[in-house]
This record gives sequence, structure tokens and C-alpha cells, in this order.
Amino acid sequence: MGRIRVLPDQVANKIAAGEVVERPASVVKELLENSLDAGATVLRIEVDGGGRRLIRILDDGCGMLRDDALLAFERHATSKLRDVKDLLSISTLGFRGEALPSIASVSRLLLETRSPEEPTGTRIEIAGGKMLRCEEDALGAGTVITVRDLFYNVPARKKFLRTEPTELAHIASLVTHYSLAHPDKSFRLTSSATELLSVTPVAAMKERVYQVFGSQILDDLVEIGVRERDLFLPPPSVPPSQAIAEYRSEPDEPPVRRFRLSGFFSRPQVQKANRNSIYIFVNGRLIRDRLVMHALGSAYHNLIPSSAYPFALLFLECDAEEVDVNVHPSKTEVRFRHGSFVHDFVRDTIRERLMESRPAPSFSPAPAPARTPPAQPAAQLPYSEFSQMMANEAPVAPSLVEAAAAPGAMPPPPAPPPPVAGDPAMPDFRLRPVAGPAPRLDFSAPPIEVAPGPPPSGKLSSRRLDMHGEFPADAIPAPETSLSALSELRPLGQIHESFIIAAGRDGLWIIDQHVAHERILFEQVLKQRAAGRVETQRLLMPLILTLTPEQQIDYARIADELHASGFETEPFGNRTIAVKAAPAAVGAQDLERILFEILETAEGELRGASLDDLRRNICASIACRAAIKINMRLEPEKIRWLIHALAATSCPMSCPHGRPIALRYSTRDILKSFHRI
Ligand code: ADP
Ligand code: MG
Repeated sequence: MGRIRVLPDQVANKIAAGEVVERPASVVKELLENSLDAGATVLRIEVDGGGRRLIRILDDGCGMLRDDALLAFERHATSKLRDVKDLLSISTLGFRGEALPSIASVSRLLLETRSPEEPTGTRIEIAGGKMLRCEEDALGAGTVITVRDLFYNVPARKKFLRTEPTELAHIASLVTHYSLAHPDKSFRLTSSATELLSVTPVAAMKERVYQVFGSQILDDLVEIGVRERDLFLPPPSVPPSQAIAEYRSEPDEPPVRRFRLSGFFSRPQVQKANRNSIYIFVNGRLIRDRLVMHALGSAYHNLIPSSAYPFALLFLECDAEEVDVNVHPSKTEVRFRHGSFVHDFVRDTIRERLMESRPAPSFSPAPAPARTPPAQPAAQLPYSEFSQMMANEAPVAPSLVEAAAAPGAMPPPPAPPPPVAGDPAMPDFRLRPVAGPAPRLDFSAPPIEVAPGPPPSGKLSSRRLDMHGEFPADAIPAPETSLSALSELRPLGQIHESFIIAAGRDGLWIIDQHVAHERILFEQVLKQRAAGRVETQRLLMPLILTLTPEQQIDYARIADELHASGFETEPFGNRTIAVKAAPAAVGAQDLERILFEILETAEGELRGASLDDLRRNICASIACRAAIKINMRLEPEKIRWLIHALAATSCPMSCPHGRPIALRYSTRDILKSFHRI
């Protein structure tokens, strides 16, 4: 007799559960997706014991007919697919028909459901995959699924669960992010009667972000709006037999696929230690995707350090045919049919938005907590199932709100300078009334008039009697959120011969002269490179460099790009190269270092990088070496030039290595610090 047997359904379900139900949050994910597929607009999630003791999901969706309710627990039973063709255009979150039988095989499950088409509802109870009860009852329309004692019959799995707070945090993160993807629906998550998230329907994504994270976070984010790009597909090939008939008819429009990107991403100053704050939704499905992740990273290339990650909430919409969701049992991965198109669309869109908005970093303290609606508790729980898995349990980053407020979020402002000898041309930085063109804000406002006679309340109002002047609220300019304000700055001087101090319409600016110049040169070199006219200079004597075998391989790979960037090099015997010419911006004394630096970046993280990234890295190295240094006195004329040239760059936020260039101390914060408002 043969030795192969077909496994009974109960065993097969348990095996499937191994993939689909990894932890309590996976149950919540499957059930939430079912509720969303059922058209629910009100979703309630109750959990207890981090989801191990209890998970209950209530929805007002379409419910199930009696027969369907029974069928739903059969393996591969689904209402969402009919035939194999449907697999190519899945528009629902679920389609595998695996979740309910899998969950029911590893828990005690109660389903209560009623479709509006039937007068009575159905209650089904299952434990460890065995049906215990199925009865008819008077139930409200919609569905309630209660899952108790998850993994009670799979002790091995139970052992792998983390602590209750950890499991709860995974659930909270999941619900939070589904709530972000569906701002028109209401979500409520409670854990043993504690409310972790409660959001009502809103019209715009921005309002949902505000509901979930509080107002502080919006200051740190750039909204994408809705950006679209069309992919023109080649016309379908026509069999020769039909070709003649087709020839007579009007030629069809080439098929077009429209891709749409919306969402939010953080300004370059918000830098996270891992990918945990990146959320990618494709057609409403929360996924982890290397391609989109890479595109996001490329958009920030030369804007944040390569070891840092942004916060991002990206929603990509496209035709269902453009994305294969049937890649992974837990449906958390997808495959794009036109991957490189998607990659470039995401990268370009984010980069363009960054350039347009030129978000201004500030070293202002976080606004007073009283005025900031606090983030919901769920939003502050630090875990995310998806990114966590991807980051391989990397250390947990603080939430964005904490990170933005924490002093470590940005490089600390420079230490207070020692007194610098005065220079008539370049006033030293001292807080004092500014001379020159009439400032919009007068720091030496006359004392306000004190009304004669006793104050009406009988109590002395310290503000009214303040003899130091007061700011009418309407004289305080709205905080400048864009670096476009740079072009209007009036330079005041330098501190430490390294940082330029300038007065702007909205406060005081400090600009790091080295990185500012680096950015200017970087864009200049990049432009020259794109136009194929990099200015070069010939060396009097070729420079001979000896390479390691590894460098030799990398050199061979990037030699053409080096040449196009102005480095004329050629192999010169075994593992040596001769450099004959270099970009004009690079001094001869820096040439050796710069070439080794380029080889170093080309070898490590960038070995698999695109040509575009390589090109940018070469330009960044040139710019860094050629830029004016810190500890260098600058003439007023040079400072003015630097500020104007910086304002004219497309990306004055950060240097090509990701450090911030200009910090702003807003008028509002200055006034606050002096207790004037
Ligand atoms: P899938 O979602 O892949 O179809 P599931 O096992 O998750 O598979 O669910 C099986 C079927 O049960 C679904 O196709 C759907 O018809 C029905 N169903 C599950 N949850 C709900 C719900 N909350 N409301 C209405 N129908 C549901
Ligand atoms: Mg499902």
C-alpha cells in the first residue's frame, strides 16, 4: 500500500494557521480585512490579554447568509473569487478563503452574523476546528466574531508569543494604520475597557492623521496631495488573421494604466533609526515592500544620512491587474507587474514634493502641550508588526512625536560661542535691536501706556504694567514653514567663523556655511554632469593610485561614470590607476582622498545601487571636498552670495550627506522664551 495520504481538513487548516495566524495581531488583521471587505463603516475591536485571551471584532457590514456562515469555515471557501481569471484582478483584501478556518482551528471562535436579507441571524461556535453549535437567533445586522484562547491547542506556538504589552502594541499599530487607510470609517480599539483608539469618519486623510497622532506631527510632515502618472502599455499584439480587419477600424488608444500616490512623509530633519515608521498601502492593503521602500530611500538620498529612515505613510493606488497580491499567505507582500515604473514614480513624486515644499527645520521647542491634541494611546505604542518583521526585530524607535521633541532628533545647536572681537562690517551676533532697513517687528517697541487711576479689576495685571513693551498678537508673523524665506534673509554675522547668523521675516536663522556651500556645489556639479559638461583640469603629473583587489573590481565598474564626472583615469599596470584630469572644483591635494572616498561608497551599501545613486554620490564627494570649510572667515559679500545661492538651490534643506543646513528660531519662539507672549 502506498505511503502517501491526503491530510484531513483539520490538519490542513492547522498547517495553514501556521502561516496565516502568527500572533494575535494576525487574527485582528484577517478579521479587520474581512469587515472592510464586507463594506463595514463602523469597526469595533475589543481585546484582552494582548489578544491572547480575547479578540472581538464587531462590524456593520453586509453580514452572512445562514448557508454562507457555515461554508465560511470550510477550507478555501470565499465569496471573493470565482475562477482563476479573478486572481488577476483582486480588488478585495481577502481572497484565499483561509483565514476563518485557520483561526477557528487554533482557538475557540464564536461567529454571530446576520445579513439584512434574512430576518434572523446565525450563531456558530467552533473550538479547535470542531463545530460545537450552530443556531438561529435574533441578531442585529452585521457580524461579530469573538476569538478566545488563541493557540490554546497549539502550545508550541503559544510559547513563541511575546509579552501581553508587546502583542497589544502590535494590534494597536495594525488598527491604527488601517484606520489611516480608511479615514471615512470609524474605528475603536479597546483593551480590557481602556480605549486605545477612537476615530470618527472624516473627509480627508490629513484630518485622520490629526485624529490619530495629534497636531504636532503634522508640522513634521509634508503632504503629497494626489499625484498621478500614467503607464502607456504597448498595444496588444493582433493575430495576423485579424490584422486586416483591425486595419480598417480606427486605431485603438494605447491601453493606459494610471497610478496614484498620496499620503505623507517626514521632513528631512525627522530621522528614525529603522524602518518602523514607514507604512505602505497598495490599494488599501498594508504591505511591506522592498521596491517601494527602496524608492522612498532614493527620494531621500542626499537628504538624510544613509543610516537614517524617514516617517512615511504612502498610499499607492493602481489597477488591480498591475499588482499581484497572491504572493504570500499572510498577503503582506505584493509583486508589481511594472516594478521599475512604480519605483520611479514613487521616488520622483516624493523627491518633487520635497523640493517644492522645501520644509524649514526649526530648533524651536515643541508647542505647549495644552494646545496640542495629544496623540491617541494606540499611536504612541511603538511597535508595528510589518516593519518589525522586516527590521528583524531591530531596536524599537521612539514614536515620531517623541523623536521630534527629543533633543537627539536633530544635531544639538552649536555650543555658545566665546565673545568674538567686533568687526564693523560684520556685526557680531548679539541679541539687540537691529539697525538697518525698518524691521517688520520692532524689538524696541515703546512701553505701552499705563492708564491713569487704579486698574479696573483692583488687581495688578503684571502684563498691563510690563514696561518692557508688548507684542500685539497680530504683529507676530505666521511661522515660516518653507525655506523659500531664505532668499529674504539679512546676514548679521558669523559665529565661530563657521555658522552664519541672519535675520529673517520670521526670526533668526543659523546656517552652517560648509554644508550650505556643499549643497550649492552639489547641485551645480550634478547639473554640469547631466549636461555632460563638467569643467575639468589636467594634472601636471598624473597621480598614481594603488588599489586593493576589491577596489580594483569596483573601479572597473564605475570607471565610465568617473570619467563622465570629470575624473580622467586609466589602468596603469597591476592594480594601479593613473589619474590625469579631475573636476575643476577639486583641489589637487584632495584628489586622492576623494577618489578613495568614491570607491568606498561604491563598494559598501551601494554595490547594488542604481547609476543615479552612484552619480549623486560622486557629485556629493566632489561638493564636500570643494566646499568652504568651517572655521573660515567670510567676507560680507561672500555671505550674501552664499545665502542667495543656497536659496536658489532646489533642495536647501540638507546637505548631500543628510545634515541640516539652516535652522530657524522663529519669532514666536523668541517671544515665548522672553515671556512676551
Ligand atoms: P477570504 O476573506 O479570503 O474570502 P475568509 O476565511 O477570511 O476568506 O472569509 C471567508 C468568507 O467569509 C469571506 O469570503 C466572506 O464571504 C465571509 N466573511 C468573513 N468575514 C465576514 C464579515 N465580517 N462580514 C461578512 N462576511 C464575512
Ligand atoms: Mg479574509
